[in-house]
Amino acid sequence: MVGNQWAPASHRVKEFLARNNIPYLWLDPEVSEEARRLMAVSGKQKLELPCLFFTDGSILEKPENREIAERCGLKTSADMPFYDLIVVGAGPAGLAGAVYGASEGLRTLVVERKAPGGQAGMSSRIENYLGFPGGVSGGELARRAVAQARRFGVEVLTAQEAVGLAVDGPSKTVKLGDGSELKCRALLIATGVSYRQLEAGGIERLTGAGVYYGAAMTEGESVRNQDVYIIGGANSAGQAAMYFSRFARTVTMLVRGPSLSSRMSRYLIDQIHAVDNISVRHGAELLEVQGETRLERLVIACDDGQTAETVPAAALFIFIGAVPHTDWLGDRVARDESGFILSGSDVSGSRVDADFHLQNRSPYLLETSLPGVFVAGDVRHGSVKRVASAVGEGSMAVTYVHRYLSGV
Ligand SMILES: Cc1cc2nc3c(=O)[nH]c(=O)nc-3n(C[C@H](O)[C@H](O)[C@H](O)COP(=O)(O)OP(=O)(O)OC[C@H]3O[C@@H](n4cnc5c(N)ncnc54)[C@H](O)[C@@H]3O)c2cc1C
Repeated sequence: MVGNQWAPASHRVKEFLARNNIPYLWLDPEVSEEARRLMAVSGKQKLELPCLFFTDGSILEKPENREIAERCGLKTSADMPFYDLIVVGAGPAGLAGAVYGASEGLRTLVVERKAPGGQAGMSSRIENYLGFPGGVSGGELARRAVAQARRFGVEVLTAQEAVGLAVDGPSKTVKLGDGSELKCRALLIATGVSYRQLEAGGIERLTGAGVYYGAAMTEGESVRNQDVYIIGGANSAGQAAMYFSRFARTVTMLVRGPSLSSRMSRYLIDQIHAVDNISVRHGAELLEVQGETRLERLVIACDDGQTAETVPAAALFIFIGAVPHTDWLGDRVARDESGFILSGSDVSGSRVDADFHLQNRSPYLLETSLPGVFVAGDVRHGSVKRVASAVGEGSMAVTYVHRYLSGV
C-alpha cells in the first residue's frame, strides 16, 4: 500500500486491511524511495492515493472497502437468497449468535460492514474475558471466533452494510448497501455502538489525520517517540493509554472528572499509575485541535475552564460515550430515546407489533417489537457493554430464535 501518513483515506485502508487480517506493507511516498519507484513504474501520469499494488501487477487507486474486500478474496455476496437466521453485525454478540445458530443447525449468514470483531476487535488487550488469564487482543479473539463460525458453516459477508429492513409476516428482508436484498426467517441485530463525535474546533477536518475515534492500533508505529493524548476515562481509554505507552514518548489522558475510579477497572488504574510515561490530567477539556494538514497542537481548557493551554500533539485518540447503530432500522423496531433497541419486557403496550397479539404472546427475552427480530449486545437498551455479556446475549438469542421458529 502506498499512501500518505496523514491522509484520512490512508488510515481507513490501513485499518480495513489490518482488521481483516490481510497482510500488507505500507509505504509513504514522502519518505520511501520504493513507494516512489512503484508509482513511477505504474505507467500512470497521476495516481490517486492511497493505492494498492498487487503482486500480479494490478493496482487499486483510492479503493472503497468493498473493492478491497472483493480483490483480496473476502466474501461480499451471499450464496443463497434465503437463510434461517441472518445476523447483522460481526462483533462479539453477532459472532456468538452465528456460532450457536449454525452449530444448532440453522442456515446462518452474518453481514458486517467493516471487519469482524466490532469494538472488541479494536481493543489491544482484553484482560477480563473468561478463559484468557494472560489477556487476549481483540483481533485474536475475532480471528478465532470467525474461524469457529466458518467451521460450523456460517457465511460471513464483509464490507457489506445493512441499510434497511422490511418485514412481511414470517419473512424478513435485509436490504444491503449495494442494492441487493437477503431474506430470512429470523433476524438478529447485533450492530453495536460507536463513539459519539467530540465537539471541539477543527476536529472534523483532522479526523483520520492525527485525530482518531477508538484505539487505531495501526497508528502505533506512527506515534513512536512522540506525544499523544487520549480523551476519556473508561476502560477503553485506559487500555489505549497502556497500548500507546509502548510506542509514544508520553501519553496524556484528559479526563473531565476528578478521578478514574468511577468508570475504570481497578486493575487498569493500577497499571496506568505504574507506567512512567502515562500521566492523567483531571478537570481538563479539549477546546480545539490545530494543524495544517495533520494534527500538530491541542488547545486544552485547564483548571475547570479558568485557563487555556496549547500543547504539541502527534495524535489524539477519543473515547467518549456511545451511540447505537440503529438508524438503518427506521421506525420498524421500537427504540428508546437514545436509539437503543427495546426487547423483551421493555417493549410494552402499543409499541408491540400487532402480530404479537395475533400470536397471543409477548416478546421473548431479547426479542424486539417485531416477532422474529432479536437483538443482542451493546445496541440493546439496558446492555452492560462488555465482551462477555455481548457473547452471552448473542448465544442466548439463538434459544429464543428456535422457540420463535417452532411456533411460526
Ligand atoms: C477499545 C475498546 C476496548 C474494550 N475493552 C473491553 C474489555 O477489556 N473488556 C470488555 O468486556 N469489554 C471491552 N470493550 C467493550 C466491548 O468491546 C463491547 O462491549 C463489545 O464489543 C460489544 O459487542 P457487540 O457485538 O454488541 O457490538 P460491537 O463490538 O460494537 O460490534 C458491532 C458490529 O456491527 C457492525 N455494524 C454496525 N452497523 C452495521 C450495519 N448497518 N450493517 C452491518 N454491520 C454493522 C459494526 O461494524 C461492528 O463490527 C472495549 C471496547 C473498546 C472500543
